Amino acid sequence: MFQHKKTIAEGDLVLAYIGRDNLKPIFVKKGDVLQTKYGNFPHTDMIGKPFGSQVTSAKNVGFIYLLLPTPELWTVSLPHRTQIVYTPDSSYIIQRMNVVGGSRVIEAGTGSGSFTHAFSRTVGPTGRVFSYEFHEQRYLQAKEEFESHKLENVTLTHRDVCSEGFDVDSEISAQMVFLDLPSPWEAIPHLSRVIAKDQTVGICCFSPCIEQVVKTVEALQECGWTAVEMTEVQAKKWEARKEMVRELDDAIERLRDVKRRQKEGAELKKLPPKRDADGNEKDRGYNPFGKGKRIAEGDESFQWQNVSKTGPELKTHTSYLLFARQVPDLGAEV
Ligand code: SAM
Repeated sequence: MFQHKKTIAEGDLVLAYIGRDNLKPIFVKKGDVLQTKYGNFPHTDMIGKPFGSQVTSAKNVGFIYLLLPTPELWTVSLPHRTQIVYTPDSSYIIQRMNVVGGSRVIEAGTGSGSFTHAFSRTVGPTGRVFSYEFHEQRYLQAKEEFESHKLENVTLTHRDVCSEGFDVDSEISAQMVFLDLPSPWEAIPHLSRVIAKDQTVGICCFSPCIEQVVKTVEALQECGWTAVEMTEVQAKKWEARKEMVRELDDAIERLRDVKRRQKEGAELKKLPPKRDADGNEKDRGYNPFGKGKRIAEGDESFQWQNVSKTGPELKTHTSYLLFARQVPDLGAEV
């Protein structure tokens, strides 16, 4: 899995933060140069810098940040080969399925490997992710990527899981299954051979259409899965901030002020500002409804209330998340 490191060395994968929606993965190599619209950034200058550093371009015209890769940042910077699972879904699925350090997970298909990175970090060195992809090119690309990212706890298999199932040479005993396939109902009957027999196993199927969900529910029930539930994640940004409480008296004072100014006429506005002994413009005081001195949010001399504001929906491939459990029959012979 991505290693936590403090300092950038030659050969490291670095995510160059060029702008809010522009993260570029680079492998640091002496002599190479990252070219951006904010200028050129020689890789040699990055070596020895702490991850998170800001670096300026060769001609000092712009700057970027050098970030340590995490599954979340990889999800927003990876080369897309398929639709991918985004962090609002993957984080929800991981916590809901109780995937933890040491867990054994099956994932099909691998696709662009977005979710594989999140699983790999969560299960850690004592767990294992068994990931399957039947598209040869995607399989080869994912294999190369997982090797270069050192996802050593991932077993990637080139396989059509719907026709050939999930068996590999070693024992799988999966405690959690994640299916992001066009026809999960064809893969579900193969799972009984590879899931843990002595504990409750969870499954999540990720499907964009309700017709797929219906077929999958039928297959799950036929194969002994219970507690079937469907969820859809619609992630939004919430901004929490403080808003100044404005009193009625303030509004009245503001109206009086407008009236006064109208009376005094525009000439008054043209007079030079009043200055103190040092020549600084005198503070005109705070006018909560108009221009005046800037007040820092939360300034204790004023009264504030906490408010929240929603943002647009986050970028996520909205799919239905179908969850179920298989509880072991502990009376049966294993
Ligand atoms: N979850 C992945 C991610 O986050 O990057 C994206 C998965 S993508 C939507 C679905 C993948 O499943 C495709 O790459 C496709 O080739 C693969 N696939 C479809 N049917 C399959 C099958 N029967 N066996 C194995 N892989 C399959």
